[in-house]
Amino acid sequence: MAITAPRGTRDILPGESWKWNYIINTASETMKDFGFREIHLPIFEHTELFSRGVGETTDIVEKEMYTFIDRGERSITLRPEATAGVMRSAIENNLCVQNSIAKLWNWGPMFRYERPQKGRYRQFYQIDAECLGVQNPFADVEIISLSIEIFRRLGLKNLEVVINSVGCEKCRPIYREKLLNYFDAHKNELCETCLTRLDRNPLRILDCKKEACSKVADGAPDIYDSLCDECREHFEEVKKGLERLNFTYKLNKRLVRGLDYYTKTAYEILSGDLGAQNAVAGGGRYDNLSTAIGGNKIPGVGFACGIDRIMLVMEQQNCSFGEVPKTDVYVAALDNEAKGAAQSLTYELRKNKISAECDISGKSFKAQMKNAGSCNFACIIGSEEIAKNSVSVKNLSDGTQVNIPISEAVEYINHQV
Ligand code: AMP
Repeated sequence: MAITAPRGTRDILPGESWKWNYIINTASETMKDFGFREIHLPIFEHTELFSRGVGETTDIVEKEMYTFIDRGERSITLRPEATAGVMRSAIENNLCVQNSIAKLWNWGPMFRYERPQKGRYRQFYQIDAECLGVQNPFADVEIISLSIEIFRRLGLKNLEVVINSVGCEKCRPIYREKLLNYFDAHKNELCETCLTRLDRNPLRILDCKKEACSKVADGAPDIYDSLCDECREHFEEVKKGLERLNFTYKLNKRLVRGLDYYTKTAYEILSGDLGAQNAVAGGGRYDNLSTAIGGNKIPGVGFACGIDRIMLVMEQQNCSFGEVPKTDVYVAALDNEAKGAAQSLTYELRKNKISAECDISGKSFKAQMKNAGSCNFACIIGSEEIAKNSVSVKNLSDGTQVNIPISEAVEYINHQV
């Protein structure tokens, strides 16, 4: 039996890869306009980076990591997310010394052992941006506006920005205690998973999707009542900043996100066109991540968006992916004797950055011209052209044809494309 791709992975085939590139190029241009610089990190890291960074009690660390012992007896994990790796690199490479700011972005595959469904894969791709070294709420606004701008440029419609504050190490324990008391009193209404979350991470019960738990969570204490002055002020400034930029957003006091490192701002961008897995981007502030992984205190705020999901939404909303890539020239040989000359001219065009194709499989002239149909020009070479060192160039959009010396072909076509 032929081997198939592992469950939860998918191939990005040529029919899709050019659209994929459009998304990445658009993100890349936007990052540049916002002053973010590209960083590329290993796909695997020490397991400890994620268990300490993302948090022992998170779904990611408890159930979803691809972890293995390598041949040197080290515990290695395929990265389930990018932020911890970026912070690790910033600490290791001193990217954020003496109050300097590091604005970094990257894209690539992430790995989580989740139940695959539409928009949820075990190997998926994220575009990720992190702003390190700034505590100021302006940085949160910078990050949120960056993610919104990428989606605006991609033409995504029907999006909703949802924000919350999850407090800090000072006020969250107080809120946690209140939650614990509340949920403990509603124990028998909670699902199995939430019962296990009760002691370990009661905040996660707030975003359980099960109806019964959701009902209980509706009546849970409000996090805003527990925020300390600093967190409350920070949250107000973020909201003001978003309003200054004319963004509409919704507050959702139950948005806690699945990663422990968030402090203060947490946000998501949701699409009305995705079904159950409706988040296209998620992020927030993580002022304690650096110390959790053994570094100095470096505040940070960032986001990640799922390329697979962006693609799904763009397809559904008939968004433009720019121009379909087209080959400029097809060099057709009238007979077998001309095939070598056709390949030489093709290579000459390619050397001059004109995209060109010729037959490499022994096709008839008629079949070659059929292939030429998707190009802008056809260059035709037969024995007559070889004898005269010439080539016939046909403009395939208007049907006009000229015969020119072969040495002028590059210049001629360069003028036309
Ligand atoms: P997170 O790292 O969980 O905050 O997720 C950030 C974004 O990555 C989400 O909003 C999704 O767009 C995307 N994402 C997360 N998990 C998956 C997955 N299993 N499959 C596809 N996309 C995902």
